[in-house]
This record gives sequence, structure tokens and C-alpha cells, in this order.
Amino acid sequence: MDMPNFIQPNVSLKQYNTWKVGGLADFLALPNTVEELKESITWAKKYNHNITLLGDGSNVLIHDDGIKGLVVCLKKINGVEASESDGNLKLECWAGSSKAEALKVFLKYKLSPALFLTGLPGNIAGGVVMNAGVGEQRVPREFCEITEWVDVLRPDTLEVERVQATDIDWSYRTSKGWQPGIIVKVGLIWPLAPEHPEIMNEIKKATRNRIMKQPINQPSCGSVFRNPKPESSGALIEGAGLKGFSIGGAQVSTKHANFIITEPGAKASDVDLLIKHIQKMISEKHSINLHTEVVYLGSF
Ligand SMILES: Cc1cc2nc3c(=O)[nH]c(=O)nc-3n(C[C@H](O)[C@H](O)[C@H](O)COP(=O)(O)OP(=O)(O)OC[C@H]3O[C@@H](n4cnc5c(N)ncnc54)[C@H](O)[C@@H]3O)c2cc1C
Repeated sequence: MDMPNFIQPNVSLKQYNTWKVGGLADFLALPNTVEELKESITWAKKYNHNITLLGDGSNVLIHDDGIKGLVVCLKKINGVEASESDGNLKLECWAGSSKAEALKVFLKYKLSPALFLTGLPGNIAGGVVMNAGVGEQRVPREFCEITEWVDVLRPDTLEVERVQATDIDWSYRTSKGWQPGIIVKVGLIWPLAPEHPEIMNEIKKATRNRIMKQPINQPSCGSVFRNPKPESSGALIEGAGLKGFSIGGAQVSTKHANFIITEPGAKASDVDLLIKHIQKMISEKHSINLHTEVVYLGSF
């Protein structure tokens, strides 16, 4: 079986993650359709390649030695379709649609999901995998509240199966119960009423807040550690005097201590060492184990 033209060998993954670090993918597939996605899986199976999934790479740390086998990035399978049904707004989002695309539709209807989606990077499937959300007490504030169903491509059968959101086990920055497989489409739902006439102003305020508090113009992956509730990782790291501390090309942001930023030429190992240093310091000072929200890809 010849290699399909949407699969390329030896591709640098630096441009495929927001930390801009990491090595090569043995092979990178950028399928344009679900049919091409299925072809990618069939090709990988034929050559016994492991498959690793990538959305927008805004929550992953990719090893400097890269990722063995086939990396499949779904960003080209995108598009959002909206409809009204039984008093609800329903959005059918292909996996690679950006959260901003869904936000625009909710905003057009002046509905509150637009507010929590503001400033959330990454694509819709990544939002479901991570149960992405915001810390502020908003309704809604996490993906689990707006998701109706998820279409999952099962790697064994290459069939697409619909999993209802109620059958998914959602928790803080994780979702379980839809695996194994690849999320290809997500159904979002929200009541058409009430409208929020002031939503545009609230979005502007939330954006100003993010710009003030987060280093959004520098390469990062957002919050690195989960909050060990009721504590906040950022407060613990700042309290340990680690703001601005750096290892190689990776630095604890001076704006937000739960963000690690990178400079050009930084290595994934710099980020990894810094993460381990922070964990050691917080464990010694507070006997608290900080766990990463970021997903490690490759052989760490
Ligand atoms: C500046 C900045 C701010 C951020 N702020 C927030 C925030 O406020 N709240 C928040 O929750 N997150 C935040 N994040 C983290 C990140 O944006 C979210 O977790 C996002 O939902 C990840 O989506 P992604 O498409 O980038 O996924 P990726 O990082 O590409 O992947 C995440 C995981 O999902 C898997 N995956 C990806 N696509 C699929 C698929 N189709 N099927 C199955 N598995 C798949 C990957 O293998 C990986 O394990 C921030 C990141 C940045 C850079």
C-alpha cells in the first residue's frame, strides 16, 4: 500500500504545538476528511506504526526525540453547522474546528457559552478530551456542560460510534468513557433562551483580564499543573519564589506562575526539567504533589 499524499515522513512537530518544542514525527498525517483519516489508520496498521493524535497541540509536551510511528493531526477536518431544535441551539462541529468557530455562533445568538470559550485555544475535540474550561464561576464553564454527543472512530472496526455526553465520565480536565478511538465530530447544545444582551462587553472584559494575567503572546501551553484543590498551583509556585525561574530556554512566567513559557531554541527537556524542579520544590515546601494537566507525547 503506497503512502497516501496526506502523510509525510520526518516532519518537525515544533510548528504543531504551542510550546514550539519537540522533535520529528516519523510520519505525520493531515487528513482532510474522515475517509482520509480511515486510510491513515489502515496504512499505520499495515506497517505496525503506533498512532498518536494531535489537535492544535496547545496542551502537549512533545519529546525532543519526537514521536515514533504515525502522528495524526485533525486540524484540517473542520467546520461547524448550526441548527435550532426544541428550543435549543445545536452545533455539529468537526473535530478540528477551533473553539473560536463555535464561539462565533454562540455569540451570534448572544448565548452564554460564548463567554467561557473566549480565549480558550485549541480545537473542539481537544476541548472534549481535556474537558477544557475556566476557573471563574460561570455557567457554563466546562465542555461537559455544552456537549450533547461525541462521534468516535473506533480504530479496530473503522466504524464511527456516537457516544452520548451522559455516558461520559467527566472530571476536572479529563473525560473518560468515549475511548478507545478518535473523536471526529462533537455535538454541542445550549438553550436558545435567555439571551445575554451584554455578552459582547463581558467577552471584552474577559479578554482584557486574560491579557493582563496571562503571557498569551509568548509560547506556552496554558496552565501546566492541575490545581490541587482547594489550593491553586499558581499561588503555590509563586509563593515558592519561582516566578521568573528558568532552566535552559524554559521559564516560569513572571505574569502567571502556572504558565511555563519558552524562548526560541528551547528544548522539551528544558520544560520537563523545569516541571520536575517545580514539583520537587512544592513537595518539599508543602507536601503537595503537583500533577500536570499537560499531556506528554513521545518516550519520556
Ligand atoms: C495560552 C493558553 C491558554 C490556555 N487556557 C486554557 C484554559 O483556560 N482552560 C483550559 O481548559 N485549557 C487551556 N489551555 C490548554 C488547551 O488549550 C486546552 O486543553 C485545549 O482544549 C487543548 O486542545 P488541542 O486541540 O490543542 O489539543 P491537543 O493539545 O492537541 O491534545 C490534547 C490531548 O487530546 C488528544 N486528542 C487531540 N485530538 C483528539 C481527537 N480528535 N480524538 C482523540 N484524542 C485527541 C491528544 O492526543 C492529547 O492527549 C490553554 C492553552 C494555552 C496555550
